[in-house]
Amino acid sequence: MPPTPVQSASNTVKLSPRGANRLKDGHVWVYRSDVVSGESIPPGSLVAVTDHRGKPLGTALYSSSSQIAIRLISNEPVTDLPALLRERIAAAISYRARLVRDTDAYRVTFSEADFLPGLIVDRYNDLLSVQILTQAMDSAVVREAVIAELGLRLKPAAVVERVDPRVRDLESLPLRQSCLLHGSKTATTFAMNGIRFLYEALEGQKTGAFLDQRENYAAAAQYAHGEALDIFCYQGGFALHLAPHCSRVTGVDSSRPALEVADQNAALNRRDNQPEIEWIEANAFDLLRDYSTSHRQYDTIILDPPPFAKSKRDLEAALRGYKELNLRALKMLRPGGILVTCSCSFHISQANFQEMLRSAALDADRTLRLIELRGQAKDHPILLNVPETAYLKCVIAAVS
Ligand code: SAH
Repeated sequence: MPPTPVQSASNTVKLSPRGANRLKDGHVWVYRSDVVSGESIPPGSLVAVTDHRGKPLGTALYSSSSQIAIRLISNEPVTDLPALLRERIAAAISYRARLVRDTDAYRVTFSEADFLPGLIVDRYNDLLSVQILTQAMDSAVVREAVIAELGLRLKPAAVVERVDPRVRDLESLPLRQSCLLHGSKTATTFAMNGIRFLYEALEGQKTGAFLDQRENYAAAAQYAHGEALDIFCYQGGFALHLAPHCSRVTGVDSSRPALEVADQNAALNRRDNQPEIEWIEANAFDLLRDYSTSHRQYDTIILDPPPFAKSKRDLEAALRGYKELNLRALKMLRPGGILVTCSCSFHISQANFQEMLRSAALDADRTLRLIELRGQAKDHPILLNVPETAYLKCVIAAVS
């Protein structure tokens, strides 16, 4: 059933004491198991939320399908949802204007972290990429308001919707294809920290860049030297930033399409006094095993794997995976070498990650000195009340 476009809350959802306490504690999600009354509420409705005694707690977006039934959008009654969303988008844009530097590519809205649950908008120069992750955000009236506000404030040449079929399935939304919502341009170039990248809005399963790593690229470049290895390089984000500072750079990824774009990106940035980057298509685990047993040595190694822990259940296996990678990298670093190691799994805490590194260094018989403990770029804000908004860890360390 398609979501009903509702502008003001005409339904009320009552929460269990545990659900109400979550909201009183500052979180914005309530799970279905804590919804006491709420049957037959249309998917994607704007709802008034109360505790079990009927005391108002605010206004939320309701999902009839997700385990997260309630996403709080305001502590107050809301009478005009499209107007509220337009205000929030304008506020998210001015937040970036104050904090984002050296780029024309950044996350414009980051869902809960911008009080816009289920709306992610990325900007790549003159193109915008929109992801809609909840029933309420999928309604026609909300889509119209969102596109109108983005158009007014950012004047993009085009707006593309990127569809993740799994998300639509979880939210019981009808399948849609990724497509243009406005304009006709689908390719552009963007820049970060003075490095240029290609962007194809409608190609591949994940297009665009890992914008959350933008500030970590610049940080890594400060310490990188000598021979560098960028493992899980995707379209070359770290490798391209290292090239001006290193004598040799090798990027490794298992995705050939990603490496093809990486090579085109390298051509965009090539300078005579810089090494040509070598791209290797390989499984990172196999390659690191081969290289470390044949005693290859590097001065700078980047590890930026995909999320190994998709849920809490995967924690132990994920930590073993991280440890294997980090152990091998540590063995391959020359004294004075730099390790830049990342995890984008929310379920791995900063403490888990550091403990894994400590134990890898011990096993590799190396000493690690922490240079920087970093996280996601400022355009991916972290809401302290909503721990799920903090997910990226990036440790930069010197090895001896
Ligand atoms: N460092 C990149 C982002 C990495 S995303 C950047 O800053 O842009 C993770 C990458 O790991 C993806 O490109 C994916 O293709 C690659 N990948 C996943 N599993 C892999 C494996 N076993 N071996 C090598 N690459 C892998």
